Amino acid sequence: MSDEDRNKASEDHSVYGADTLFRDLADNLPGAVFRYVLNADGTDFIEYMSDGCLAIWEVDATVLKNDPTVLWGMILPEDLPDMQMSVMSSAQNLTHWTHTWRIRTPSGSLKWLEGRGQPRRLEDGGTLWNSMILDITDRMEAQAAISERDRGLAMLRRQIASASKASALGALTASIAHEVNQPFAALVNYLHAAKNLHKPATADDPVSGILGDALDQADRASNIVKRVRSLFEQGDIELVPNDVNVLVEEAVVAAEGGAAHHVTVVRDYAENLPQCPLDRLEIQQVLVNLIRNSFEALDGSDEASVLVRTRNLNDFVEVRISDNGPGIDAAIVDDLFEPFSTTKPGGTGLGLSISRSIIEAHNGTLTLDLNHSPGAAFVIALPADLS
Ligand code: ADP
Repeated sequence: MSDEDRNKASEDHSVYGADTLFRDLADNLPGAVFRYVLNADGTDFIEYMSDGCLAIWEVDATVLKNDPTVLWGMILPEDLPDMQMSVMSSAQNLTHWTHTWRIRTPSGSLKWLEGRGQPRRLEDGGTLWNSMILDITDRMEAQAAISERDRGLAMLRRQIASASKASALGALTASIAHEVNQPFAALVNYLHAAKNLHKPATADDPVSGILGDALDQADRASNIVKRVRSLFEQGDIELVPNDVNVLVEEAVVAAEGGAAHHVTVVRDYAENLPQCPLDRLEIQQVLVNLIRNSFEALDGSDEASVLVRTRNLNDFVEVRISDNGPGIDAAIVDDLFEPFSTTKPGGTGLGLSISRSIIEAHNGTLTLDLNHSPGAAFVIALPADLS
């Protein structure tokens, strides 16, 4: 039927008749339109099926009219009980039927279908539905891909958070151990000297005993501190060739935390980067830390933006994270990468020092670009795998 004919038909049903108009409509709507009847004795038949059934079930409408079991037979066995229940319940209560299920078509493809229908009781006790079935496979697959991606991102965020906590704890412990190691060593030396200098007046002089006990305890404490230090020294990391752009993008998404942010993140990723041998979680921990620092620095700024850029420097891949915030506070700029340099009330000042030691363990560098203004810019250079 041409467009002109269609227009005419809709103006005057008598030209083509309501039946022709209905069939044209039904056959051109997306999905399949059909009338299904469930008899009081449990047998069923399809009173009408539009041509859309061929695209969905790969079966001609005439075949289905004769044998509705063809449709039932394509439903996945695990989806069949729910499907039967939904139809029975709609028939019993005359409630709107709406259901989603999967079929395996004769060519072997798996499809998701969604059906809706309005039931009506017939004089002989049977039930008739005017229904519509849509193929929603694309939508379900897109949803599944999104859920899969969200699950992956949530896991990545948890892993980065726990790796960050573990390394912050490790760094804190290591730096306390480092700080108290010197005084303990000095204490042991002083006690040795005191013991050597002390001349006991009698054989059972109590001061000698006390000095000996003090020396034992100081020795013990000094050894504990040494053991703790060695425990938290940077262990071996597993370097695997990685695409830096992928890691950077995952870190941006993880840092954004899924929430709508006041900061615009501008991505400028270089094409054809060489792979870099990296420990994925550790590098992402660094990236998330730098990006979050920028977000925090930009809190309350108008037109806040963070630029995340990657560049190919042949032997190295450079990742630059810059923002247009207030920049690094002059009071800490000289000790920025030292532990406990922080301007934040609840800050630990460990993030940048841990980040630098992670990058250095990858034979790379993490530096502050002192020429960047306004705002702050951190530059990571990671050795490329050119083998
Ligand atoms: P923390 O975030 O716990 O303070 P960090 O080592 O990650 O520890 O950061 C140290 C300090 O460096 C921060 O307290 C902040 O003052 C400063 N800083 C880091 N990144 C930025 C930035 N993008 N803009 C301004 N200051 C920053």
